[in-house]
Amino acid sequence: MNFNLSQENKEVKRLAADFANKEIAPNIEKYESNGAFPKDLLRSMGKQGFFGACFPEKYGGSELGFLNLALIAEEIARVYPAISYGFNMQAMTCPFTILNWGTEEQIEKYVPDLIMANTIGMFALTEPGGGSDAAGAMKTTARRDGDEYVINGQKVFITFANEADVGVLFAKTEPDAGHKGISAFIIETDRPGFEARPIAMSGLGNAVRSCEVFFDDYRIPKENLLGEEGKGFKICMNALDYGRLTVPSRLVGIAQGCIDASLNYCDERVVGGQKIGEYQMIQHLIADMVVETEAARLMVHKSAFLKDNREAATRESAHSKYFAAEITTKVAKSAFEIFGGYALADEYPVMKFLNYANMLHTGEGSANIQRVLIAEDALDWKDANRHNIPRRFELSSDIR
Ligand SMILES: Cc1cc2nc3c(=O)[nH]c(=O)nc-3n(C[C@H](O)[C@H](O)[C@H](O)COP(=O)(O)OP(=O)(O)OC[C@H]3O[C@@H](n4cnc5c(N)ncnc54)[C@H](O)[C@@H]3O)c2cc1C
Repeated sequence: MNFNLSQENKEVKRLAADFANKEIAPNIEKYESNGAFPKDLLRSMGKQGFFGACFPEKYGGSELGFLNLALIAEEIARVYPAISYGFNMQAMTCPFTILNWGTEEQIEKYVPDLIMANTIGMFALTEPGGGSDAAGAMKTTARRDGDEYVINGQKVFITFANEADVGVLFAKTEPDAGHKGISAFIIETDRPGFEARPIAMSGLGNAVRSCEVFFDDYRIPKENLLGEEGKGFKICMNALDYGRLTVPSRLVGIAQGCIDASLNYCDERVVGGQKIGEYQMIQHLIADMVVETEAARLMVHKSAFLKDNREAATRESAHSKYFAAEITTKVAKSAFEIFGGYALADEYPVMKFLNYANMLHTGEGSANIQRVLIAEDALDWKDANRHNIPRRFELSSDIR
């Protein structure tokens, strides 16, 4: 075993850190104060090859691989969690799903623009009936009508949807067939019958929004079916599996952002005649923050390493997503404690970090759902369906 990052990994990490510090950090206020979607920033990240890390060069990818993607996502989330959504929408859950399941024609049409962020992507799965039971709650239908599908229904919490050009959508082509009736589609938002309404969530900032999305007799050509009819659930689980690389990377970045901010604050804040970092109870918090973040980071690197070596990493990705979410919410709460009342002040990033940690604790498989899956996997209850959650660990993550 070798825990050292390669020279290339170190250079990629440094490049991403420089980009985050010089190109992103000074501009956050600009985006957040006027609620401007940071499209130019996403484009610059696309040009740097950040989103294309896991894509072949022939589609415009940088072929840096999963570990480098994890390193980049961590560095960006450390500075600005909101923009780190891009690692899901512009790298994994949208274009990588098209790469894994699309035809050559679909890949060529959509992937190069998505990973360069020339077009904005989204992943439309969750419905109002409950994100944890995505298949059971799915009411959105796709009815075949000649050479088209007609889509009707509603999604919720769809990030980037108000700015998106393209998306991967899940809908039922056979409404009574449970998760076997789900199909996946590539949608374009400039067609009639699509509407996205941002949900008010001021705790996450103003620039990047998650939306309710409505489909009202929205039509797409039959060529926009992704994979085969009825395979949507498998495609979805596979997409989330890859998302469980970038989500924990982003969480580790948020945890590191909390540590960095806390260390600075411990050094500058003087209370009772001494720097607060000199108080042992504050030092205990710092020690736990540092060690737990490093443990989560190693778990992310392991799942990325397995993916880079074309080994199934579904289990490891779920473990790392669960652990990173648990420790990052804890680390963010510790940062909150260290900052005292100033944690709530907008001039410090602590409150945003805590909100994003909580959000990612729930998003892409809540902690409870991860626990259920991890425990059932450990118990080896292959036939269990006790919580009406279709088995997920049986699905291979190694499509490409
Ligand atoms: C800011 C934000 C952005 C998002 N972006 C996207 C996006 O881009 N695309 C997308 O498709 N979705 C997105 N989501 C949705 C996200 O994936 C869901 O919020 C998540 O899956 C949980 O679903 P829910 O919120 O409906 O909670 P629910 O499913 O209603 O769950 C509520 C609580 O009950 C628990 N629970 C539910 N079922 C069980 C069970 N069987 N066993 C134990 N506990 C259970 C859950 O763990 C949770 O604690 C986003 C969410 C947020 C908040």
